[in-house]
Amino acid sequence: MPGFGNYPTPVNELAALSRPGSALWIKHDDLTHPIYGGNKVRKIGRLLDDARRRGKDTIVTVGAIGSHHVLTTGIFGKSVGLSIEAVVVAQPRTEHVLENLRADLAQGVSLFPASSYVHAAFVLASRIVHGAYYIPAGGSNRIGALGYVDAAGELAAQVRDGALPEPDLLVVALGSGGTAAGLAAGLAREGLRTRVLAVTVAEPPGFVERAALALAAQCVERGLRRDARARLEVTRSYLGDGYGYATEAGARAMSAAQSVGVTLDSTYTAKAFAGALDCVAAGRAKTILYWHTLSSAPMAPLLVGAPAESALDARLLKLAKAPRK
Ligand SMILES: *Cc1c(COP(=O)(O)O)cnc(C)c1O
Repeated sequence: MPGFGNYPTPVNELAALSRPGSALWIKHDDLTHPIYGGNKVRKIGRLLDDARRRGKDTIVTVGAIGSHHVLTTGIFGKSVGLSIEAVVVAQPRTEHVLENLRADLAQGVSLFPASSYVHAAFVLASRIVHGAYYIPAGGSNRIGALGYVDAAGELAAQVRDGALPEPDLLVVALGSGGTAAGLAAGLAREGLRTRVLAVTVAEPPGFVERAALALAAQCVERGLRRDARARLEVTRSYLGDGYGYATEAGARAMSAAQSVGVTLDSTYTAKAFAGALDCVAAGRAKTILYWHTLSSAPMAPLLVGAPAESALDARLLKLAKAPRK
């Protein structure tokens, strides 16, 4: 299998947060890789492989200024000797966002600030004309999402081996869509009964949701397309003020997770975990699997050689917006 990381990632029950008749489990994709984990690792392996097969030496991608995908591309692209460029757009400022930005620079990623996604498209086009291999936001095209078709196969093997009961419901954050789409497609292919509840965290939600459904259909053979789409359910209930803005439900989910030793971020995983906790509280399914997508690898090694916050380029810093009040 092409790619990076250590698989299968572990699963365990979060017994302290389960209820009678509704067990909460976690799949630890925070542990996909010891240097930098999270869900972008499964996608980037296939994408970088494709770039190298096509003889490319430069990658261009796009994301918010604190993007996990841009950082993942920087780390793993560098490890195979590729030059990485990223066009970056604004998102609300958090400590986590600034740390990711500084880590990008420490990996040698060339960052091109853009004032909007429309502006970003122009900058991207000019880099692609120069011969760079294009990876979309979040690494979410069919090639990247196939990493999550594989992940569903990995889950099916864990169910067969008795590592966990067959989940009725899988809950995961929905950003650029590759993770949820790949999982829905992979579960259809495996013939598990597991449905996917994708918690929208990105905007505009209607676009994000349609893109995920279309991508799920692209990831399987013709006969399974309807099944892949049908098992992907999307909810906007946890989005709050929008991408990157913390919510109260997310803050409660963060402290619940902390009580069982799981760290969440406010942009993605807190919102998804809030959705999973509500499903448990409502007794929505017997076995609920929360898919944990945030890297738990220590950041310090990735920040060696990073510029101090005070030394950051003003145009980049401006993209980390003050939170809305
Ligand atoms: C990118 C990301 C997601 C969303 O995954 P997509 O495949 O983009 O939908 C979820 N959680 C974290 C921590 C992420 O960085």
